Amino acid sequence: MSKKVVKITEHQFKSLHEYINAHLVRKVRHLENSTDTSETWIEFWEENTGYKIPAEGITCPSCGETQTDILGGHVTDDATGEVFITPVCRGCNSKYKNSQAFTHHFHVKEAYLVRAPR
Ligand SMILES: [Zn+2]
Repeated sequence: MSKKVVKITEHQFKSLHEYINAHLVRKVRHLENSTDTSETWIEFWEENTGYKIPAEGITCPSCGETQTDILGGHVTDDATGEVFITPVCRGCNSKYKNSQAFTHHFHVKEAYLVRAPR
């Protein structure tokens, strides 16, 4: 395979970088043994991202439905073992626990994943 070198400007590079980051998603699943302190975890998530969950709710990445009862759920990327906090609905957070956690994978935007403290 031949390589083609394309030179781009700093501005084009930044735009490209922003575009990729905005569209990058990661495949995750709920963490099987997460403790139930999810109310405080959503505050942690908001503080770290600068985003705020609106009163009208968001699309829960786990079930894909618009939900207003949003918590900070623990999710993990099986490929890397990293653990993140991301907003999910209360229903999904309690449904996918223990052995159920392994049965359901979903996609979350990279920008919405905050690494969980150890
Ligand atoms: Zn959900």
